[in-house]
Amino acid sequence: IPIHMVYAPERARFFEKAGSITRHALEFYSALWAPYPFPQMTLQDGPSAGMEYPMVINSNQGAADHETAHQWWPMMVGTNETRYGWMDEGFNQYMNILSEYDEQGKPYSLNGLGQSYGRISGSESEAPMMWSANDAGSGYGFQTYQKAPLMLSMLGGIVGDEAVINAMKKYTAAWTFKHPSPWDYMFFMNNELKQNLEWFWYYWLFTTESVESSIKNVTTQKGKTTVEVHQAGQMPSPVVLKVEFETAGPAIKKLANARMLDANTAEVTWPVSVWFNGKRTFSAAMDFGDRKIKKITFDPNGRFPDANAADNVWPR
Ligand SMILES: [Zn+2]
Repeated sequence: IPIHMVYAPERARFFEKAGSITRHALEFYSALWAPYPFPQMTLQDGPSAGMEYPMVINSNQGAADHETAHQWWPMMVGTNETRYGWMDEGFNQYMNILSEYDEQGKPYSLNGLGQSYGRISGSESEAPMMWSANDAGSGYGFQTYQKAPLMLSMLGGIVGDEAVINAMKKYTAAWTFKHPSPWDYMFFMNNELKQNLEWFWYYWLFTTESVESSIKNVTTQKGKTTVEVHQAGQMPSPVVLKVEFETAGPAIKKLANARMLDANTAEVTWPVSVWFNGKRTFSAAMDFGDRKIKKITFDPNGRFPDANAADNVWPR
């Protein structure tokens, strides 16, 4: 794919890295979602410094990765970006994060992003993502650009990041040169991820609620440990506990809902449906045997919106 760059000679310093950034973007996003379908790509220096058109972007090196990403949405997957900006700018920000890690030669991490939304939830200037981007007011940048990666971080915390990326790749294939609505996206992801995520889409897209979890108490009796998990927010989440054991002692018993992260650390998971009875506290019972537990952490990867993560740890 030829990349053309059009700029005045005195502006050359803004294009020193533009070619290599655009080349990386074309190759990385082609592999991530779908091959770039157009015969060329042109960067022009103005009239603005960040705007996208099919095969043409107003961009120097500063926005080259982001504006190139727009060739996938909305140029290939034709979303209504003025009405549902998160399907365009929001998904774009998500892929920009993955691209940046790849460019640095590092494996990506989306840890912490989902949790960070807890510090924003409750702001009166935030419009729900399903509001028209044109009506989002002073919270437009967050609503349209920044919130979708936080949402997809939590989704990855539930089904795994690779599963999210694979589902998004299939969504791209299914909807290229068509016009998906938000409901097409939600149903597609539910089907592809093989679970009913209506609760998830409802809270992230239609509300500005968060999870606000904490560990209230931990009791141990005859090798059985019970963790009292509390959720103060309106958004539910799966219960994910990292359990760190003392290195010496009796063997750690296997649990059906646990996997060992290393010889002395387990991650235990209960589905989101434990909250569907409306109760605020869930008693997570674990029968690991008599090995002493050193530390328990709720949501160890920081995926669920929570303003105060300090109370997710036991003991404290
Ligand atoms: Zn953009």
